[in-house]
Amino acid sequence: MPKSEHVLSYYAATAQPAPDLPELEGEVRADVVIVGGGYTGLSAALELAQRGYEVVVLEAHRVGWGASGRNGGQVCTGFSASLAKIEKWVGLEDARKLFAVAEEGKALIRDRVQRHGIECDLKWGYLHAAPKARHVDELKEEQEIAESRFGYEGLRLVDLDEVRRMVASPVYVGGLHDAGAGQLHPLNYCLGLARAAREAGARIFENSAVERIELGRPAAAATANGRVTADFLVLAGNAYLGGLAPQISSKVMPVGTYIGATSRLGENRAKSLIPDDIAVADTNFVLNYYRRSSDHRMLFGGRVSYSTIMPPYLPRAMRHKMLQVFPQLSDVEFEFTWGGFVAITVERTPDVGRIAPNVYYAQGYSGTGVALSGVVGKIIAEAIAGQAERVDLFSKLPHTPFPGGPALRTPLLAAAMLWYRMRDLM
Ligand SMILES: Cc1cc2nc3c(=O)[nH]c(=O)nc-3n(C[C@H](O)[C@H](O)[C@H](O)COP(=O)(O)OP(=O)(O)OC[C@H]3O[C@@H](n4cnc5c(N)ncnc54)[C@H](O)[C@@H]3O)c2cc1C
Repeated sequence: MPKSEHVLSYYAATAQPAPDLPELEGEVRADVVIVGGGYTGLSAALELAQRGYEVVVLEAHRVGWGASGRNGGQVCTGFSASLAKIEKWVGLEDARKLFAVAEEGKALIRDRVQRHGIECDLKWGYLHAAPKARHVDELKEEQEIAESRFGYEGLRLVDLDEVRRMVASPVYVGGLHDAGAGQLHPLNYCLGLARAAREAGARIFENSAVERIELGRPAAAATANGRVTADFLVLAGNAYLGGLAPQISSKVMPVGTYIGATSRLGENRAKSLIPDDIAVADTNFVLNYYRRSSDHRMLFGGRVSYSTIMPPYLPRAMRHKMLQVFPQLSDVEFEFTWGGFVAITVERTPDVGRIAPNVYYAQGYSGTGVALSGVVGKIIAEAIAGQAERVDLFSKLPHTPFPGGPALRTPLLAAAMLWYRMRDLM
């Protein structure tokens, strides 16, 4: 089999050097085997290795090949579902505990970047930009709930004048600034996490796709050329796991989302677009999310599709979206466009749990996994080490399977999304 490489993207083109890691061959015994070398798997591996466990990570392609190496780099506060909904589902006390976990996710990134010297352009400051007055009202309500019921103090409403100073675009009428959210270079953060995990003693194999798992004690994960048996198995393949564990596949829907990176704009021009160098996401259901790169490009994400291949019209469609927000970039082209799969759940909250007493999984961060996946990897590690309280907390969140099974899931979701897209236009 030819060796896999990262998809061609701005991130891959500006990745820190990282070694090629070996392919799994033969029989290996470990305490824990982890399927998937993204943030979830690597975070669990780092925590477990630091606690003295023998850990093996099996990655089908390269470390960070999946969503963790391709995403918008937006480090978000909380969950994709609103805090009000989470409170309704699990009650205020558990909702507060879940919010505290999400807050820990951001702190963990800050801490790991510092502790392990990960160069990934981590910066703080984030704007939810509202194109419609009714979105401003929704943001106001979110702020009130976050402050009064969850004690979160990072938010500040922004009026028309200020939003236009923060983003040089005619489309927004207000916004919500979040001082506690931010941005990073996702692939470099992921590669740094892998380095830290290896330095702590974890063994990572690349080009090692797990073709079969065996439940039992020990559990096992088998690739074409090798097999790892271990006391614990962690499934961290998320949107890319496919049918490896049918028990959990109906709870998530992989949705394609896409990003374009313009050519370099030069420092002054890039600064003129987002002077404070914050990350921005608008409040449309199918949202635009964008930020400046450290080499002064616009990284602009948005669009969704339900196809497994990148639509050919994509670069044009993405550029059209970017020009709606920044008409002043009409002379600028994308140098890179790429996409990847986000796993969403019906309720837009992460699906974390066990499929057997010694087999854990996490998936479906629904677009807020940069901050959440690291802390979820950590709490899976805690559960393996004997403290399952926080995994059990996540198990309280309701998760409705997507209707229709694998064949019907995608068309049904596409129909639902079309409705929401029409609502954005109203
Ligand atoms: C284009 C895009 C933009 C996004 N933007 C944002 C954003 O701005 N902010 C945010 O918070 N979130 C964003 N996300 C989501 C975020 O990237 C994910 O939630 C997060 O990276 C999930 O990490 P993970 O480790 O669980 O999964 P992944 O990073 O996808 O890692 C899973 C890994 O498992 C491997 N794998 C799967 N099956 C097997 C197998 N059988 N054997 C071996 N290996 C296997 C895959 O190759 C993959 O590398 C975005 C996602 C995409 C695709």
